[in-house]
Amino acid sequence: MSQPTFRAPKGTFDLVPPRGDAILAVRDAMAAPLRAAGYGYIETPSFEQTALFARGVGESTDIVTKEMYSFTTRGGDDVTLRPEGTAPVLRAVLENGLHRGALPVKLWYSGSYYRYERPQKGRYRHFSQVGAEVLGSDDAAVDAELIVLAVDAYKALGLNDVRVLINSLGSHESRPAYRDALQRFLRGLDLDDETAKRVEINPLRVLDDKRPEIQKALEDAPVVVDFLSEADRAHHDKVRALLTDAGIEYEDDPRLVRGLDYYTRTLFEFVHDGLGSQSAVGGGGRYDGLSELLGGPRLPGVGWALGADRTLLAMEAEGLALPEPPGVTVYVVPLGEAAERRAFGLVTQLRRTGVATDVALGGRGLKGAMKAADRSGARYALILGERDLAGGVAQIKELATGEQSAVNLDEVVAQLAGRTGAG
Ligand code: ATP
Ligand code: MG
Repeated sequence: MSQPTFRAPKGTFDLVPPRGDAILAVRDAMAAPLRAAGYGYIETPSFEQTALFARGVGESTDIVTKEMYSFTTRGGDDVTLRPEGTAPVLRAVLENGLHRGALPVKLWYSGSYYRYERPQKGRYRHFSQVGAEVLGSDDAAVDAELIVLAVDAYKALGLNDVRVLINSLGSHESRPAYRDALQRFLRGLDLDDETAKRVEINPLRVLDDKRPEIQKALEDAPVVVDFLSEADRAHHDKVRALLTDAGIEYEDDPRLVRGLDYYTRTLFEFVHDGLGSQSAVGGGGRYDGLSELLGGPRLPGVGWALGADRTLLAMEAEGLALPEPPGVTVYVVPLGEAAERRAFGLVTQLRRTGVATDVALGGRGLKGAMKAADRSGARYALILGERDLAGGVAQIKELATGEQSAVNLDEVVAQLAGRTGAG
């Protein structure tokens, strides 16, 4: 067999049926709890000015230093394929003045994201996320609400082994004292140059270093929860109490930090142990200072993004049956040219009546077409033979039982709609 000339770029892959349908169902399941909770859908461009991410995600983050797809356009603009959704959504909120209406603004989104990563299982250069952001409230109830909505999405997909990790990073009140303490500790370690530099620029990010030798050296590092101000502590306690009230099991993880610079106070991650090292199926947190960072007014916010691709892998790791394409209810089998012509009209009518219908094409014989009908998963075959047509009838065959009856052509659509509960 010859090799195809073109392949999907490194780190990307196609989602073909039935996997394509499965990822759609995953995204739908993630969106359903949000839509039922009053969140509105927002769509932003797939690329933005590079400066938005440099500023909004943070100059010292892995995303900005190593993972961005950035380029200069023919017109000379510096743009980047979006690596994440929060900065673009906040940019859109400010630009469209949503923050001047009723607060909080609750939004959800779904789309493709791009990061120049080292490809491996669960880590791709093109992946999809469903995200949610709530702007304009610093109530801890919003943090808890978002965590509950994510947990409900995972549950709706049948996942049992998603763990919720939470931490607080404190706010501007508590962060400086913690930062100092952490820096003092980190300067005492024997670190490579790059990491030592990071200690001076953004010491919290060092905690996110996944190398085992670094993790070991960090065992005695001070933890941020010991430095929380009274208000930060009260916020954190309220989130935890509300989660407990909602019956959500969570784990306090005082070492949890995440890859983006903008987080304040609540930070959380959803992990699945069946995925190996790419264990995070989603995560998020509060980012009360991000609006000001982007030149906006004070506008506290909190949000999350769930990874659809890893969630699908998690479902497979748990041995769950993946959601299937919906399939059709009726499969039409025309025999002969006149029948094909008549079938086209019937198929259109059936579909418009709400009966999911497919049809055998290209003058297939009865045997091949009936095989295709079986494969389609339809409940009924509608057979239009030449003799049927001459007599003004068609045969409705129930595929499971083989039961067959002739029905007048002008009653076929109503019959099938009735039998299948459509129309
Ligand atoms: P990780 O620590 O695994 O790199 P992250 O902190 O970079 O994750 P976020 O930016 O919080 O991830 O993105 C939210 C979710 O999107 C992640 O929990 C994950 O499920 C998914 N995700 C992130 N990067 C990728 C990727 N390169 N490929 C596939 N999914 C991804
Ligand atoms: Mg990452």
